[in-house]
Amino acid sequence: MEQLVCIVCPRGCTMTLKDTPDGLTVTGNACPRGKAFAIAETTQPMRTLCTTAATAFPAFPVLPVRVRGEIPKERMFDVMAAINAVVVDFPAARGDVILENVCGLGVDVIATSNLLSEEGERP
Ligand code: SF4
Repeated sequence: MEQLVCIVCPRGCTMTLKDTPDGLTVTGNACPRGKAFAIAETTQPMRTLCTTAATAFPAFPVLPVRVRGEIPKERMFDVMAAINAVVVDFPAARGDVILENVCGLGVDVIATSNLLSEEGERP
């Protein structure tokens, strides 16, 4: 038996998972999304990641970025290391790909700000 707080919406239902001969049972969820979250969380937890990447623009040394989709929780540090190795050297706009297929996970890292495209200057 395991307890888990659902993070899908602000209600934050506390759910109880039980491993039964018929599979996992989930109680305490107020909607089906909680059950789906609980099962995913116990089989392959996924997360999104928002952070910053270094730039070559002295006036704006970091650019907000995020992964375009969810990534396995266990690969978060690998993805952070890959992003930390990047230096954005073009005037990226929101949605531009900063790092393609990060760590071979099939997910791109994209800019989430127009800081460089609107305010940046070429190094
Ligand atoms: S189970 Fe449903 S209502 Fe409860 S926190 Fe999760 S998404 Fe929200």
